[in-house]
Amino acid sequence: MSGKDYTTRLVHAGPDRDPHTGASSIPIYQVSTYHQADPEHLGRYDYARSDNPTREALEQAIAELEGGTRGCAFASGMAATSTVLMIFQAGDHLVVGEDIYGGTYRVLTAVFKRWGLESTFVDSTEPDQIRAAITPKTKAVFVETPSNPTLKITDLAAVAEIARSRGLLAITDNTFMSPLLQRPLELGFDIVVHSATKFIGGHSDLIAGLAVAKDAEVGRRIRHVQNAFGAILGPQDSWLTLRGLKTLGVRLQQQQESAEKIACWLCGRPEVKKVYYPTLDGHPGRTIHLRQAAGGGSVVSFELATKEQAVQLMKNVKLPLVAVSLGGVESILSYPATMSHAAMPAGERAARGITDGLVRLSVGLEAADDLIADVEQALEKAHRPQ
Ligand SMILES: *Cc1c(COP(=O)(O)O)cnc(C)c1O
Repeated sequence: MSGKDYTTRLVHAGPDRDPHTGASSIPIYQVSTYHQADPEHLGRYDYARSDNPTREALEQAIAELEGGTRGCAFASGMAATSTVLMIFQAGDHLVVGEDIYGGTYRVLTAVFKRWGLESTFVDSTEPDQIRAAITPKTKAVFVETPSNPTLKITDLAAVAEIARSRGLLAITDNTFMSPLLQRPLELGFDIVVHSATKFIGGHSDLIAGLAVAKDAEVGRRIRHVQNAFGAILGPQDSWLTLRGLKTLGVRLQQQQESAEKIACWLCGRPEVKKVYYPTLDGHPGRTIHLRQAAGGGSVVSFELATKEQAVQLMKNVKLPLVAVSLGGVESILSYPATMSHAAMPAGERAARGITDGLVRLSVGLEAADDLIADVEQALEKAHRPQ
């Protein structure tokens, strides 16, 4: 289906109807085991940790959509990332972007390090820093672009080329863009992971993760750990994730259009010190981002002058949830200083632009003008002397 428009591919990815009945969705196979007609020659399905037709439909769909040979679905984005990390072994070394998702940083430094998998964190927007951190033990490079919450851009093709020339695997977390906007395997990456909790699920009603390998052998290694470690996605949640994929196109295109409008509007507001959005004029990564992605996405971060103003904004908005997470049909306003980046020392946060005035808005499907009006009234209250 590669010739078709991507939104068409999203609707029909994987087995898009039930092969047995023609039903319009793959049924939820709520099972743990399968009867074997011949105990000496087991059938295609034997135990549901290994194979479940609903999960398999999702795994085929995401493999197709990312342009890989094998997809695997997991109980969370962190289960997907952790399973991918388990294809390595004690003594191996990874070069990792310093702005990766906080949970990935935590699992690398607090869990995998104890088992002998070492990581060096570098500014992945500077390919020279990646090159300089590679040692004879390095097995992979792990990056994320745009980064969270300041939306810094890493050049995916440049990172893939470094990895290829040094015999390393290139891994990226593609959650912020989704395959609709960015397909790293087409740019030379080996493995893509997703928190499907965000844009792919899309309705803030699900925790799920996905991993896709370009090469069949790498896919077998991930699949082996998926089955051995067992952090699989259940059939109900696989079905919800498949449903999310079908509407990803219209949702994210609309959310992105609104996000662009809101980012431009924020740039003109006197209360706003700085706006972070990948396709804004003046964003340092704009050219690279536009080369590798089909748009800026639907996350906009912006900085107010003081912590008090940020807190007042969050207390006074009426439409967005004030919460962690992103990518849902409802807008979500987050406060990195106390939410996603609370564990980071204040000095380190400040050095990365994560000030106490910074907020992150995941733009949902509300009309852009309603969101602007809501943020405007909240900004005006926030700006009024108390
Ligand atoms: C949320 C998120 C994760 C973790 O996903 P879970 O589904 O919460 O485990 C990983 N990476 C990014 C970029 C995320 O936003």
